[in-house]
Amino acid sequence: MNVPEIFGENVFNDSVQKDTLPSEVYKALRATIDAGKTLDTSIAGSVASAMKKWAISKGATHYTHWFQPLTGLTAEKHDSFIEPDGDKAIMRLTGKSLIVGEPDASSFPSGGSRATYMARGYTAWDPTSPAFVKDGTLYIPSVFVSYTGETLDKKSPLLRSMTAIDKQAKRILKLFGIECKKVATTVGPEQEYFLIAEDEYERRKDLRLTGRTLFGAPVTRGQELEDHYFGAIKPAIAAFMRDLDAELWSYGIYSKTKHNEVAPAQHEMAPIFSTTNVAVDGNMLTMEIMKRVAKKHNLVCLLHEKPFRGINGSGKHNNWSMSTNTGLNLLDPGPEPENNTLFKLVLAAVVKAVDEYQGVLRASVASAGNDHRLGADEAPPAIMSVYLGDQIGALVDSIVKGESYTTAKAAEGGIGVPESPIFPKDATDRNRTSPFAFTGNKFEFRSLGSQANVSDANICLNTIVAQAFQCFADELEGKKDIEKAANALIARELKKHYRIIFNLDGYGPEWEHEAAKRGLLNNKTTADAVPVLYEEKNLEVYVQQGVFTRAEAIARADIRLENYNKIINIEALTMVEMARRDIIPAVSDFIAELCQNVASKQAVCQDIPYNTEKNLIKKLAELNDNASEAVEKLEADLKKVDMSKITEAAQAMAHVVIPDMEAVRGYVDEMETLTSADYWPYPTYFDLLYSVK
Ligand code: ADP
Ligand code: MG
Repeated sequence: MNVPEIFGENVFNDSVQKDTLPSEVYKALRATIDAGKTLDTSIAGSVASAMKKWAISKGATHYTHWFQPLTGLTAEKHDSFIEPDGDKAIMRLTGKSLIVGEPDASSFPSGGSRATYMARGYTAWDPTSPAFVKDGTLYIPSVFVSYTGETLDKKSPLLRSMTAIDKQAKRILKLFGIECKKVATTVGPEQEYFLIAEDEYERRKDLRLTGRTLFGAPVTRGQELEDHYFGAIKPAIAAFMRDLDAELWSYGIYSKTKHNEVAPAQHEMAPIFSTTNVAVDGNMLTMEIMKRVAKKHNLVCLLHEKPFRGINGSGKHNNWSMSTNTGLNLLDPGPEPENNTLFKLVLAAVVKAVDEYQGVLRASVASAGNDHRLGADEAPPAIMSVYLGDQIGALVDSIVKGESYTTAKAAEGGIGVPESPIFPKDATDRNRTSPFAFTGNKFEFRSLGSQANVSDANICLNTIVAQAFQCFADELEGKKDIEKAANALIARELKKHYRIIFNLDGYGPEWEHEAAKRGLLNNKTTADAVPVLYEEKNLEVYVQQGVFTRAEAIARADIRLENYNKIINIEALTMVEMARRDIIPAVSDFIAELCQNVASKQAVCQDIPYNTEKNLIKKLAELNDNASEAVEKLEADLKKVDMSKITEAAQAMAHVVIPDMEAVRGYVDEMETLTSADYWPYPTYFDLLYSVK
């Protein structure tokens, strides 16, 4: 594999643009991309024609505006380049079709803003993310908005949030005499996933319909030996990974690291970071390509956050930072962080943002799937906190205590702010337990779900940090001695928000108690996390940063809850169907066979009690009755949920329907361990997790 040769071969990237566009056009396009200048529409025709020519040379016959509606997935509608020319056809892409497209907006979710159902939507080219050719189609990354200007997708608010950071960060930099054209946020999203055999997958209705197993007794060997993490990669998986890398590289995605994860059949891919919107597009494409390449290898790639109970789920680590176009990373502490006022100010802004908007940040990663992870001792807890590490932690401690910072070692013990005495020492596994960790020159937000569109978390992060920057800039601008004023502000803000800093073990009940004492939120379910978004202060931050209108912010929250309700509804219905039509009858058949067995044996040898069979019959018959009853209850409770009242419905889903589902599963999983494998209707966890060689 000649990597440099295949890298980016399907992408209309900078070098292709340079080669194919007239130099004036290239310069104008570059200015749009680099400095966020508005696109000069007069160049669109020229770009479109070069793009089309290049795309055709790559075998394309169609083009599509590729966008990210509120389903969280990507959407595309293909148009061919074809245009009649007398009785012949020519291939054409006009400037106008490059810039705008008009999909029918009415079938995409738009949340509470019902008016948008009526409004027509259009897609508009995002020239900052490069176009590419895939499967004979030119993909044009786009935003999706209504004619009334409401955002209908995840990308337009993301771009707006990046603009907000750019604006406010430049004000901060200016205080220190640093001028630049642009401050962009950067993201490197690490992607976890499972690979299982396709034929086993096909036989599991739950996996096919919901992406996760709704039933399944624990496998006798899970992850307790801790031998899968970074373990040798199996040949079938290695072949998949090799193909995956080749595909990702051809689309210009810098896939860098691949390894086995903690759970059996679980793996990870980490790309090199890029500008946030490019990283988001890359991650959406990565997820799609993972599924596709898996299929080629007779595997299925599971991106659900919790495909298997009792086995670690999958997440995404969102490595996040901000850099100027001149290459200055705002989160780089440099050799002397204690004397780096800019760094300390930026750090204080992030700490303030996470504390003040902890509920919003938590909600940004809330989903039905992710609820299985957060707080389940495998992913960071649902409580938001900031981990700073030894060096920066000690620096912040010294600032808060008003002491001079001398050592790079973390100060031990409390510092007068409620720090729990229950924790004797730094936890060894601190790298995994903190939801938001400073890792050298970036923050790693670790609470994202594996199938999430990472836009949501980044829209939130960018917005709340922009807000903190704005507060700081408002206060500091015009001050005579910036260093002095900034350091006073830093100390004040770090003290004020010190409660959000937590450097120890985030798993387990001790932190929950401690966090409650500190007054931190602990919203464990989506039903409880999302309503925070309706609070005035939390709507206001989006409005103030120009990311959402009030109506848009409300609509987004509505969609999150609606989506949660729909997912739980589908899961519950699938469960009812599987239990009623497959599992209960199978167990009943097995019981019948046992009964016949006993009867025929007893006809021959009356003096033997046949306790093994009889006990099993009794136990299974009871469990099967209990399972049937639990299914009835689940179905009845589900019917009572009024899906039109989204907040109440979400509460019912989280606190009635899910416990009902738990009950059904409890009986069924126990029956699985008692029923002959010949009778069990589905592949077991063992089949699913261990059949790939
Ligand atoms: P590790 O955490 O394994 O030590 P790195 O720190 O190099 O590895 O990077 C982890 C992830 O963070 C990678 O995806 C990397 O591209 C990303 N990353 C590194 N620097 C930045 C940055 N400035 N902004 C955003 N992401 C970054
Ligand atoms: Mg990581």
